[in-house]
Amino acid sequence: MSDLLVSGGQVLRPDRTVERADVLVDRDSGEILAVDDPGELGGDDDLDADGGLVIPGLVNAHTHVSMTLLRGYADDKPLDRWLQEDIWPVEAELTAEDIRVGAELGLVEMLKSGTTLLSDMYFHVEEIADAVEQAGLRAVLGYTAVTVGKDDEGAHADLQESLDVARELDGAADGRIRTTFQPHSLTTVGESYLREYVPRAVEAGMAVHLHANETTDEVEPIVDEHGVRPLSYADDIGLLGPDTFLAHCVHVDDTEIDLLAERDTGVVHCPASNMKLASGMAPVQRLLDAGVTVGLGTDGAASNNDLDMFDEMRDAAMLGKLAADDASAVDAGTVVEMATHNGADLLGFDSGRIEAGANADLAVLDLESPHLTPAHDLVSHLAYAASGSDVRHTVCDGQVLMRDREVTVFDETAVRERASEHARDLVERVTGDGE
Ligand SMILES: [Zn+2]
Repeated sequence: MSDLLVSGGQVLRPDRTVERADVLVDRDSGEILAVDDPGELGGDDDLDADGGLVIPGLVNAHTHVSMTLLRGYADDKPLDRWLQEDIWPVEAELTAEDIRVGAELGLVEMLKSGTTLLSDMYFHVEEIADAVEQAGLRAVLGYTAVTVGKDDEGAHADLQESLDVARELDGAADGRIRTTFQPHSLTTVGESYLREYVPRAVEAGMAVHLHANETTDEVEPIVDEHGVRPLSYADDIGLLGPDTFLAHCVHVDDTEIDLLAERDTGVVHCPASNMKLASGMAPVQRLLDAGVTVGLGTDGAASNNDLDMFDEMRDAAMLGKLAADDASAVDAGTVVEMATHNGADLLGFDSGRIEAGANADLAVLDLESPHLTPAHDLVSHLAYAASGSDVRHTVCDGQVLMRDREVTVFDETAVRERASEHARDLVERVTGDGE
């Protein structure tokens, strides 16, 4: 019993055309074996895609999955006040168990909305890795180092931890987990530490992930201190290269866009978070035109407030048009590409396309709903009309993680109850009362 046949549906192909086809998956190798005309292929087990659309599993290329515990805890404030008054005090109270419980909640939310690959930045990463292993998803994980507010010893320990975690967890969960070295951002990690640790990570062959140019508050201090734009500063440190991908890049000028293209450094666009925190509009069409690989991310649930990549596609298209002052900018096909193949490319997995030889990471969308009728253009529906709750089945690495909206890898009710309890206890610890 090793083959799985996804049959009866339509399939989104890598060239963004849609055709009636069946998909044969090898559950042992976790690869797609074949895509062929209906009825041509046979498998040991069937996954019914009748009335559905088979798409590549979506890629959430920048998130903080355990922040689901903080969903709806603090809204409607600018980034610096939101972090200092609300988020950091709560995060200081998070235990390893909280992070495990929050990760389980976030991963269940992701696989229920068709996401099969994520890139995460956080701490207590072993807990997140365990949850990813159980969830059956793919992930790029890392420990996020911050040096501001720490003494020299603490700063070194944090960066060393980021190197150690990247080394130890790489290849975990039978290769479904990969890692990145993670300085939090160019303003929250001091220059001397960046100059010491970034070369170590690069020499060790590690990929690097950090926040960059999210708000003007992350640009102006670097221009004032170093006399150059942040990404020139990052380049001088050796941070930019093909194995680095940057979250946000909202405030980048033309020279920085050219630099990203030249260094083959990827960008993860997080439109909902950028809008909610009023960070600004990333010049996504200009980045794409320059040849920069742009993926999509939800960022943490506290600044979004969900992990639904269908919402993110729509937000990216809408915001991209506003930013370019052009309704033809960041079109439907482009955002679907960003949420699938581009994201997988940034994260270094052969996923994001329904094709023989690629990883068997896919989702089956139910098309038989009023909001997806009529079906003039299914790529348009993916970008503008569908939502995560339309996903019927989710498959990753050839394993069925959700069948007919029933999560097979977790007890969903228990995960939700545990998360609610932990979130309540957490807030009580922070506010110091039990009201
Ligand atoms: Zn982030």
